[in-house]
Amino acid sequence: MRIRNPLVMVPGPTPVVRSIQEALGRETISYNDPRLVADFSLLVDDLVKLWRCDGIAFVVAGSGTMAMEMGIANVAARNDKVLVCSNGYFGDRFADICSRKGFETEVLRAPRWGESVNIADVDAKLNEKKFGVICVTHIETSTGVEFPLREFTEMMRTSHPDTLVVVDGVASMGGVEFYMDWGVDVMLSCSQKCFGTAPGLCLLWASERALEKRKAMPRIAETYIDFEKWVPVMREPMKYWGTPAVNMIWSLCEAVRIIKEEGLENRSRRHRKYASAIRRSLAAMGFSMGADEKVAAPTVTVSLYPDNCGLDDAVFRGAVYGEGAHIAGCLGDFAGKGFRIGHMGNIDDNIVVSLIASIERACVKRGYHIEPGAGLGVLQRALIEE
Ligand SMILES: *Cc1c(COP(=O)(O)O)cnc(C)c1O
Repeated sequence: MRIRNPLVMVPGPTPVVRSIQEALGRETISYNDPRLVADFSLLVDDLVKLWRCDGIAFVVAGSGTMAMEMGIANVAARNDKVLVCSNGYFGDRFADICSRKGFETEVLRAPRWGESVNIADVDAKLNEKKFGVICVTHIETSTGVEFPLREFTEMMRTSHPDTLVVVDGVASMGGVEFYMDWGVDVMLSCSQKCFGTAPGLCLLWASERALEKRKAMPRIAETYIDFEKWVPVMREPMKYWGTPAVNMIWSLCEAVRIIKEEGLENRSRRHRKYASAIRRSLAAMGFSMGADEKVAAPTVTVSLYPDNCGLDDAVFRGAVYGEGAHIAGCLGDFAGKGFRIGHMGNIDDNIVVSLIASIERACVKRGYHIEPGAGLGVLQRALIEE
């Protein structure tokens, strides 16, 4: 066997390093054992401080989708109108969640897949009508588009300060620069993307304003994901609401320790460097990108097949898997036309080089004749440049 274990290069889960796996493999203790309580308290503290949150951070068992539900359920009042900015599949999922919960929901979509909703259009929409909450996707995993979050939060703070801002940061948190004090009320994420641990934890940061809004509302329909049920636990983790995922919490402690050691800014720079190197090497192999270059995301890339290259999507991705890298299929408008690469979390030069090498070998072996080294050469030069 030439490849023992293909690299996990899908947009979640991402590669889990040994020290995080060791945390997952520890002997499980009770959630109210003082040792777990101490670790959990420090974790919540770290999450609050690192991301400059004036409220609280929640760590609850579940996936990113549950974090989306938790985000909207706790800050949208019954009579609030909700505006969802959608750049693709996960933006549309957010709109579906909001409308199923019975909120009057409107969707502002990007002009086409691969572009981002325009900040000026959001501003115009909010001038036209009052919305209680606005939801945006920081990095849209289906298109590889990064929403200009900084520009957006500045616009919101100056022009629409009364509308609460909820951000799906599933594919960005812990990977690219962001701080709650930019003016975000709820930031949500999960464990298996940029944090680089196994799937299983939903993470959420709520501003003081978001917590107050929840407190002022009567009982909400949700129970497990109600802020009011979890706030006491996050403040004092010996308290009980739903049994915390003990080993996942330890794994997140280690993931956050790694983030602190590297530094958020360095981590962000590393992701942007790899993303640009990967895009350039794919382009050198003849692929085009799903996302416009000016909004291309640092953590995920959508790569589209060249016309008449003769590659069959499923067969090609199977071949890349056989060569050592697990990449994902595309969704929506891009389905069948290309593949998605997750390049987030604790990845390094070794991983990126092997990824591009696997893609290159699969191209040649499946009859798309490029010069071996065409992509790798460009990648190597990008990695040497810095
Ligand atoms: C992965 C992802 C989700 C969904 O997370 P799950 O853990 O699969 O439920 C939501 N939004 C974005 C942007 C994602 O990348």
